[in-house]
Amino acid sequence: MRIQLSGAIVSVLFALIASNTATQAATPLVVYSERREPLIQPIFERYTRETGIEVRWLTDVAPVLIERLAAEGAATPADILLTVDAGSLWQAAERGVLKPVQSAKLEAAVPANLRDAQGRWFGISQRARTIIYSTERVAAANLSTYAALAEDQWRGKLCLRSSKKIYNQSLIAMMIARLGEVETEKVVRGWVANLAAPPFADDTLLVQAVAAGRCDVGIVNTYYLGRMIKDTPDLPVTVFWPDQATAGVHINISGAGVVAASQQPAAAQALLEWLVSAPIQAEFAALNLEFPVRTEVAADPIVAAWGAFRADPIHVAEAGRLQADAVRLMDRAGWK
Ligand code: FE
Repeated sequence: MRIQLSGAIVSVLFALIASNTATQAATPLVVYSERREPLIQPIFERYTRETGIEVRWLTDVAPVLIERLAAEGAATPADILLTVDAGSLWQAAERGVLKPVQSAKLEAAVPANLRDAQGRWFGISQRARTIIYSTERVAAANLSTYAALAEDQWRGKLCLRSSKKIYNQSLIAMMIARLGEVETEKVVRGWVANLAAPPFADDTLLVQAVAAGRCDVGIVNTYYLGRMIKDTPDLPVTVFWPDQATAGVHINISGAGVVAASQQPAAAQALLEWLVSAPIQAEFAALNLEFPVRTEVAADPIVAAWGAFRADPIHVAEAGRLQADAVRLMDRAGWK
């Protein structure tokens, strides 16, 4: 009886130690996320199921989150910043709100052109900003490069999203890096001259305009088209991969970094490493029909159906470095 009681006490003690350890391990991680809640909630809930570590998040646009991190300084509750554009990550790093991380797992999983050389941010998914066209009114043989959308044959047939959107600023920054400012400005002026409608507030409206016959060609992130194809498989709009003989398709990232003032940088780094592990890459990218950063991980079938393509291997940090030049150029060229 006495021995049994001791055994029971020992068991209770072990249970207490175990629960205490679990409590310590379960300090919540806080993510400031530009990625919308439906695209992160299932992923972070899976992390909690697998590790017992709770993840909390606050969502807003990147400029607001970066300002918030800068204002909160050492008092910030945030551990990770997650954005939907490389230019934003570059700016966050410039503001000093991200911490350099050295991680063999992250370096092995994320191609060098999709992460900061100092380890302050890493791509988690790839996003292709490419040409879309009406399968009813356009022959793919007439398409070639982004620049060729400035040709006369597209007069009154091109649709673009607003130049205020960072996706377009990053696209033009990369074009400046490839073609130089003079050539890029010629192209952008040609695009503006070819517009079928004033620039749209978002990519979904643009895809709808191509489907409805308001324009024949446009430039969007492929996942916006993918979402619509999911609902309407016979949508008369598809993807064209431009610049296949030259620079390649413009790639951007949704990516993340550890916050400089994080109280638990090791736990934050572990979450980033988990996000680039193969099974999570598949789920993270498929949730929004994006491309995994791990090239061996298959994309969603809707995405894979568009076929393989040459992606521009330029370092995505160029989007940040040349962003101010891109904004000024678009303004000069009259892209609203
Ligand atoms: Fe988007």
